[in-house]
Amino acid sequence: MQKLNADKMFRKPSPSVDDWKGLEYAPYEDLVELNEAGLLILENDIIVYGNPSFFRVMERPQEEVIGQSIFHFTAEEDLAELQRQFAELLSGEISLLTNNFRVKLDGDKVKFFSLHAKVKSEKGGVYTLYAASGNSTARVLAKRELVRTKSKFEAMYRNMLDGIFIYNYVTEKTEDCNDAAVRVLNYDTKEEVLEKNRFDYIPQFSHHFPGSDLHEITRMHGVMVVEGKSFFTRGVFNIKGGGQILANVNVVPTFDKVGEAYVIFHDTTDTVTQRRALKASEKRYRDIFENSHEAISLFDVETGKIIDCNENALQLYGVKSKAQLENLPRGNFHENFFKNHKDAKKYIKSKIKEAKEKGRAFATFEAVKLTGEEFVYEGVFVLNKNEKSKLEMLTFARDIQDRLNAEKEKNKLIGELVEAKKEIDQQNKELQKYIESNLQLENFAYFASHDLRTPLRSIISFTQLLKKSMQDKMGKIDEEYMQFIVDAGVNMQRLIEDLLSFSRINTEALKFEKITTIDLLLEIEKELSVLRESKSATICYCNMPSLIFADRTKIKQLFQNLITNGLKFIEKGKQPQLKISGEETERYWQFSISDNGIGIDEEYKDKIFLMFKRLHNSTEYEGTGIGLAMCKKIIEQHDGQIWFESEVSKGTTFYFTIRKYMDDEI
Ligand code: ADP
Repeated sequence: MQKLNADKMFRKPSPSVDDWKGLEYAPYEDLVELNEAGLLILENDIIVYGNPSFFRVMERPQEEVIGQSIFHFTAEEDLAELQRQFAELLSGEISLLTNNFRVKLDGDKVKFFSLHAKVKSEKGGVYTLYAASGNSTARVLAKRELVRTKSKFEAMYRNMLDGIFIYNYVTEKTEDCNDAAVRVLNYDTKEEVLEKNRFDYIPQFSHHFPGSDLHEITRMHGVMVVEGKSFFTRGVFNIKGGGQILANVNVVPTFDKVGEAYVIFHDTTDTVTQRRALKASEKRYRDIFENSHEAISLFDVETGKIIDCNENALQLYGVKSKAQLENLPRGNFHENFFKNHKDAKKYIKSKIKEAKEKGRAFATFEAVKLTGEEFVYEGVFVLNKNEKSKLEMLTFARDIQDRLNAEKEKNKLIGELVEAKKEIDQQNKELQKYIESNLQLENFAYFASHDLRTPLRSIISFTQLLKKSMQDKMGKIDEEYMQFIVDAGVNMQRLIEDLLSFSRINTEALKFEKITTIDLLLEIEKELSVLRESKSATICYCNMPSLIFADRTKIKQLFQNLITNGLKFIEKGKQPQLKISGEETERYWQFSISDNGIGIDEEYKDKIFLMFKRLHNSTEYEGTGIGLAMCKKIIEQHDGQIWFESEVSKGTTFYFTIRKYMDDEI
């Protein structure tokens, strides 16, 4: 066998199979046979030679491999690519084929097969290729894993919702950050973030951490990173455009460079705010619960046990503590509470059903406190599922015993009022009738007296004429009769005049004017001079107001009547002494007319002012009984009052008031 010179072999291109064939000793034979790498020779794609390592990698015996196309062993997914590269190699487009493709093994198993092939010779269109192959599965998988891990990390870094900085605590530079960091801090571009250092992000002071110097704490964090320590902290970040966010922050040194760390922060502003809001709302509801005027209780629907209740509920149930409620002897709260024990369960069941159907149920029943006190319970039941989906019943209740009592009392009062009103209505009706009849009477009095005046005057005049012409022809008796007629006529005339004056008080409109009091009184005195002088009466005036504001005609009538009565009602022969006084009060002028006459008995205090009321007959003291009734009417028209004080046989004082008018009212 020809021995090949190693130098020659190296200088020459690699030997062909033919070169090796017939050689007694091939210097590379051992190298090829013993090589760890699989070595093979292909003619075009047909495997014509393989060393033992090659068959080991292929996991097949030599007979199954030699003479087969390399494509026969190639997995479907890599076939096209391998064939393409083969074509390029054979056409000379590439000089070396380097490929990793999957080799089909038994079953569905595949393994990565690395192939490095070169064209070495061409014989009649058949190319001989020398190739080295190996099991590249582990390497390929490791590489793929690396790529996957890297891309996984990249994807996470890019797409995470948490913000990440790569921050150097020594150089105080933000080396990188992800999109979330830009977004969470409200910046528009990554560059804006990278320009800043951590003292720009972190405020020195914040109301979220009262009393803390956050910059000082941040500096301490730098020391920890340099020492290679990871840590977690809660922090505040300034965001672009003002405002702050709260964040949970994880800081993990990279160990690539001293002081370099990943700063991963999670925006908790909403969570913190929500938690605070939740706390505040829980507190609000607790406050309402504790301070409500209603008795509020919460029951477990299944067991009927009370879960919670407020202070008012304890009072309503007549217990001192919740524990006392929980330990009620029968276990079932309602059975102790309902006055009618038998129906309690049924009633509650029906209310739960109603609440389920309508959202809530109203309940009213007679109840007993644990103290034994009975009362009327009124409440609203509302059903609710708790966080464990257990049915709970919330009750808002109150003791309405007092209200019912008050209502009863109110209804009783209303009943009484209705009765009283009926009575008043009845009285009003009667009063109305009375007023109507009174008005009719007054009208009648006016027209009757007015119309009676003329015929009466004729009767009196003609009687007097008749008396004159019959003077000699009448006997004494006839004369007396005649005189009766004349006297009766005169009396009637007086009565009619008085009646007419009385009815005029109402029919004639009031004419208020300023009156000089003393002038008015002297005028009256003059008009009454005949009567006064006949009785040798004295009249004195005391403390008279100079001016009053009133209806002159009526006030004159008033004084006239009272003075006439004072002169008239006195024992025969006694000299009348009248005193007329005035007095000013805040709103009224008060006048009094005192006499030394016969006096009036106390029992006539009110009656005396009624029409036609006379205490004496007309033979004793003449009159019509209309004067005082008229006075009362006049006084009423002047917003005043009239009354008297008297002592029988000693004298009487009549008082009356009339309203004073202010200058601006006049
Ligand atoms: P008349 O004077 O026409 O009788 P009055 O209405 O003025 O009617 O008085 C009613 C009655 O009151 C009088 O009849 C008299 O009995 C009594 N009376 C009135 N004034 C006095 C008085 N000053 N003293 C005593 N009795 C009086």
